[in-house]
Amino acid sequence: MEPDRSGNKTGLRRLVALVLLCLFAGILLLAGGWHELNDGGGEKVGAIVQLLQRLSGLDGGRPAPPGEGLLEVHFIDVGQGEAALILTPQGRSILIDGGTAGAGEAVLRYLDEKGVSRIDLLVGTHPHEDHIGGLVAVLENIPVSRVIDSGRIHTSLTYERYLTLIEEKGIPFELGRAGRRLTLDSTVELTVLHPGPAVESSSLNNSSVVLRLICGEVEFLFTGDIEAEAEGAILERGYRSGAPSLVLQVAHHGSSSSSTAAFLEVVAPDFAVISAGRDNVYGHPHAEVLERLADAGAAIYRTDLQGSIVITTDGGSVAVECSSGSSGSAGGRKGVSLCGR
Ligand SMILES: [Zn+2]
Repeated sequence: MEPDRSGNKTGLRRLVALVLLCLFAGILLLAGGWHELNDGGGEKVGAIVQLLQRLSGLDGGRPAPPGEGLLEVHFIDVGQGEAALILTPQGRSILIDGGTAGAGEAVLRYLDEKGVSRIDLLVGTHPHEDHIGGLVAVLENIPVSRVIDSGRIHTSLTYERYLTLIEEKGIPFELGRAGRRLTLDSTVELTVLHPGPAVESSSLNNSSVVLRLICGEVEFLFTGDIEAEAEGAILERGYRSGAPSLVLQVAHHGSSSSSTAAFLEVVAPDFAVISAGRDNVYGHPHAEVLERLADAGAAIYRTDLQGSIVITTDGGSVAVECSSGSSGSAGGRKGVSLCGR
């Protein structure tokens, strides 16, 4: 089903207006100065949400085995922030977050180096600046076919700019909700695992859009900045790893508020990738998380130490490459690594 572009535009325009209203009227409903879209504006907002949800038309079938192309997942070194580029076997490009506004140029350069001139799907996991800041430069400079967002409003100029660009360019905009399957490439399966339909959490982090990507026998989990609460919700909804090898984008830059032992026990990551800035003020990744990941048996990769990290798979074997710290060490439990430690 083709999204209804005119309806989509109206919905977005209202969302932008709502953000502007919040910004300029100084309506700070909760301590952090933000509120849930679903709760925010009575019937009108409810109608917008329904409209945006109706725009989906994203049902997919079972994935076929990978073809000739390989799946590449690039965890781009954006300093303290998060940005992941997925290049699918059939040549589709997916960008999940874009780091801070200051990292926008670096993300554009990275895309250019990889020959990516358009984004088929852009995902803003949640509206914090270290995730959507760099997406503004991407939206300004590169054609984007479709956007998936948590739908959580943040009263910041960055979020307002991000939404306005999507609206101005008429890009189909959808809310990421658990159970939604996204069809871009028939050789992979891409599903939203979180948030649930009601988006119960009052926290922006815990409302992050979480995505599961399966290519043959390899699964990737992209977790945004979820914390223990959302991890619990994902487990409660019955999440089980669906593949023999699993790559986990470690939530919230390796903060101890995330990656609980219970979550890691079920996820059982073979590879764990942490995106954090070198010597960042938060102390990410936290020592307890590194310990929990090691206890779970994961090989740990870090953008603060190893630069951008690229994981390539044919749906069976997995290879890991790092842009710095590369000294040719090989091995690992389930794949080959070309990253030094
Ligand atoms: Zn973050």
